[in-house]
Amino acid sequence: MAISSQVYKELRIVPVRFERAAAGDPDIAMPDVDDRGHNTKVPAVNGLGASAELRGPVVGLKKDQKVTLRLVRELIDPAAPLYLVSSDESVVTVETPVKGSPVADGARTDIEIKGKLYTGATPKSAEIEVRFQSATGPIIYALTVYVFSPLPVAVTPHIVTINDVNGVGGVAPSLDVDALMTQAKAIWACAGIALSVQATRTWSINLATANQLRFPADFNSITSTNFNTGTINVYVVRQIQDACGVGLSRDAVTNISAFAGMQPGVYLGEVCGGGRTTYWGANDLAHELGHFFSLWHPSDGSTSGVRPATGWSWARYETWSMRLLMHNWNQTARPPYGAPPWTDYADFGYGANFRGALIPFKEVRTGLDKSGRDAQCSVARNYVKTGTLY
Ligand SMILES: [Zn+2]
Repeated sequence: MAISSQVYKELRIVPVRFERAAAGDPDIAMPDVDDRGHNTKVPAVNGLGASAELRGPVVGLKKDQKVTLRLVRELIDPAAPLYLVSSDESVVTVETPVKGSPVADGARTDIEIKGKLYTGATPKSAEIEVRFQSATGPIIYALTVYVFSPLPVAVTPHIVTINDVNGVGGVAPSLDVDALMTQAKAIWACAGIALSVQATRTWSINLATANQLRFPADFNSITSTNFNTGTINVYVVRQIQDACGVGLSRDAVTNISAFAGMQPGVYLGEVCGGGRTTYWGANDLAHELGHFFSLWHPSDGSTSGVRPATGWSWARYETWSMRLLMHNWNQTARPPYGAPPWTDYADFGYGANFRGALIPFKEVRTGLDKSGRDAQCSVARNYVKTGTLY
C-alpha cells in the first residue's frame, strides 16, 4: 500500500498504535496506555533514571504480571505481517503471539505481555518493538513498558451508618465495597502501587442529621471513633453535604490551616447527584488516593509559596483533563453552560459521562514548577517510597 502525502515541515505517520484492551470498568489485567505527546520523557522513578525522549506510548505493570493490550492497525493493512519483539526479555516478554509468530490479522488485535520477575526494588523498563514483515524487519512502532516492584499501600474501608442525635433514621450504605476496592486496585496497578485492603469495618454513629456528613464539622467525630492507624481510612457514608467525595491527605491536614488538627481520610457519599455506580466511586477513591501520594490536579496553581485554600481557580471548562485520574473539577456540562450537543461527549473509554482513570507516565507538560501535574506515576511512586502516607 502506497501512502501519498504532502509534507510541510514535519509529518508523523503512525501505522499502528496500542490502546487499552477493555472499555468500561477498570481491569487489573488491561491497563490504560499513556499515548499522549511525542518526544517526551518519563522522569526518574525509584532510582531508575529518566527515560530517553519517547515517540511511542508507555504502559506499566508489576513484575510477574501478564497484561493484555490492543494493537490497532491504524494506517496499515489489517493483514500486514507484524512481529512483536522485546528489547530486553529479562524485563518483559511477549506472550501472545508466541515467539516467532506474527500478530494475528485484523484491524484490532489483542496481544499479551508479561513483566518478568526480578530481584530488587528498582523499576526496569524495556520496549516492545513492532516490526514489519519479520522479527528482524524494520521497527514501525515502539511501546515502552515499565515493570515495577509492587509498593504496598494499606487501605481500611469503613461502612458507616449515620443516625440522628437520637440514634435513629440512618440508612446503611449499600455500595459494593469489594467491587469498589477491586476497581481502585486495578487503576493503581499500572503504577505498581498495590492497595492492601484491610477488613471492612461496619459501624454506626449519631450525628446532627441522619445520613448526612457535614464537611468538615463531622469529620473529627468519624475519625475519633474508629481510625485504623497505619492505613488510609476510607469512609463510605450515605451522603456528604455539598460533595460526592472528599479526601484529606496527611499532607493536607499538616499544611493547610483550615484542616489543622484533623485526621487524614477519604470520604465517599453514595448518594451523589442521583446516585453513583461502583466505577464512579472507585474513580473518586483512586483520585483521592492520588492526593495521598502527593499528586496535584493537572492545572492547579503554583506548589511553591502559600498553599491556596480558597478561591483556587482550578476548574476546567473543557475536557482535556478528564481523561486523567487526577482530573480537575470540570464545569463544562454544568449550568449555565449545559451539556455539549454531541452524544459521545465525555467518553474516555470507561463509559459515557465517566471520567477517565489514566495515570500519566510522560512529562508532556514540561516547564517551570510542573511537578505533580504530569508524569504522575513517577511522582506518586517516589512519594509512596519515601513520603508520609498515613
Ligand atoms: Zn482532587
